[in-house]
Amino acid sequence: MSNLSKTDNYDVVIVGMGPTGLVLANLLGLEKLNVLVIDKFLSPYDLPRAVHLDDEIMRILQVIGVASEMEKIMRPNLGMRFVDADNNLLLDWPRPQEIGKNGWKPSYKFHQPDLERVLYKNLKKFPSVEIRKGFEATEVKNEDEKVEVTILKLEKNDVCRVKCDFIVGCDGARSFIRKKMGVEYEEMGFFEDWLVVDIILKKDRSDLGLFSIQFCGTSQPATYSPGTRGRLRWEFALKDQKNHEDILKTDYVWNLLSRWITPDEAKIERKAIYTFKSSLAEHWVKDRLILAGDSAHLTPPFMGQGMCIGLRDASNLAWKLISVIRGQSDLSFLKSYEIERRPHAKEYISTAIKLGKMLGELSSNSKKNKEGPIHMKSLAPKIGNAFSIKEEEFARSLSLQPKLSNGQYVDDIVGYKFCLFLSEDLASQFSGNNSNIIVFNSKDHPTIKEYLEHVSTKALLIRPDKYILGGAKNLSELNELLSLEFINSINNKI
Ligand SMILES: Cc1cc2nc3c(=O)[nH]c(=O)nc-3n(C[C@H](O)[C@H](O)[C@H](O)COP(=O)(O)OP(=O)(O)OC[C@H]3O[C@@H](n4cnc5c(N)ncnc54)[C@H](O)[C@@H]3O)c2cc1C
Repeated sequence: MSNLSKTDNYDVVIVGMGPTGLVLANLLGLEKLNVLVIDKFLSPYDLPRAVHLDDEIMRILQVIGVASEMEKIMRPNLGMRFVDADNNLLLDWPRPQEIGKNGWKPSYKFHQPDLERVLYKNLKKFPSVEIRKGFEATEVKNEDEKVEVTILKLEKNDVCRVKCDFIVGCDGARSFIRKKMGVEYEEMGFFEDWLVVDIILKKDRSDLGLFSIQFCGTSQPATYSPGTRGRLRWEFALKDQKNHEDILKTDYVWNLLSRWITPDEAKIERKAIYTFKSSLAEHWVKDRLILAGDSAHLTPPFMGQGMCIGLRDASNLAWKLISVIRGQSDLSFLKSYEIERRPHAKEYISTAIKLGKMLGELSSNSKKNKEGPIHMKSLAPKIGNAFSIKEEEFARSLSLQPKLSNGQYVDDIVGYKFCLFLSEDLASQFSGNNSNIIVFNSKDHPTIKEYLEHVSTKALLIRPDKYILGGAKNLSELNELLSLEFINSINNKI
């Protein structure tokens, strides 16, 4: 196949150009890895799916350099409410409208095809990343030091084989790579058919409001989820209704929507029946084959987190791949990806299942609502424990993103590197240890001083994915933390 530049030495082949594959390719491109990213489709999937993302995801987009562009075409999310048939409030999950501790508003509404377009455009900046559409992975073979991937160029029915150090299956729910790994899903107990209807407004209907609403206590639980730029979504639980063909008839759909909107006010962009599932791949890494995104996990969409979980995978995985490919860590280091990410993803999926079940259970008379509406808070789970680093309250949590005294946010300076927040006295003893870590002295930045004091430590070492690797209260603890070899692999200039 002549139009691939190499056949025998890609660092990474990424299968799938959904949001997970695109983010992973961008992160690896930032560090100049030789990457081939393929998708079997010639054009991106242009219909709405994800509509919500959070501030952790904004930080990943910020590192890649596309957050500001996305911000212009998103809107802050007001939050979600559960109500009963008489509109009584049963659960309230408002989202603050101010910039929060991550340097962004906590939650946004967006249009998934917009994000994929922006990420794809950005990827073209990286000469070390080869992008191929209409190319399908059809076979993979694990060899001792490499993986061989068979790729079919669909237009010409041409086949070629390429070799790489690692293959990452960002190939969605029906993942071919997962099958090749022989990995099963652990089913977490949620399995329901829902009708999803996306409409585009023809007339102003701002009276419908910008809160997402879950309608409980009826024979057909339903969701209203306002999107961006005139797009609104409704979802309806299908319970025992089996005849999908009838359900998808236009008249039937408008009848369901008639409580809120009519055909002269909007056009239907897409109607589809999805089975909302909760599944978690039993293993995410097998030799040189790795899963990320929907190939590794599926969640019901009640928290708007499916894609977000996948983007966290990409951010956790990229620096580890870089470390192994640069010879700073051995192959087993990649196990830390599964150890850290799997329980974190599971926490989100479990909470989404709970919310989904509440849709059928909550009512003004329900036990859970005895004391009035439930007040929901955003999740902030820790990642799993992969490194034997002294356990402290803050370790394995997402770090804050302080604003520096010159007005810049930390991530804009650090990018996808390790960085160190140091108290003034520890900074005065610290020689730098030849490391290339970006150091911030709390003497120069009151926000960092405040942060260190708040978590009662003198140093915080923050990883490229913005999770806290560990802290130190004195120089010897700091030197111990910095002796981990993998830290330098990504901060070295190449
Ligand atoms: C109704 C609905 C609402 C949702 N709402 C939200 C939300 O609000 N927030 C949120 O975070 N998430 C949401 N999600 C989930 C989100 O859409 C998915 O989690 C996300 O698209 C997964 O991204 P991915 O890149 O892992 O996989 P995908 O987007 O599925 O991409 C996989 C890609 O791999 C390609 N591929 C597959 N096999 C091969 C092969 N052998 N060779 C080459 N290419 C291949 C496919 O063509 C595809 O482009 C929602 C989903 C649905 C259905």
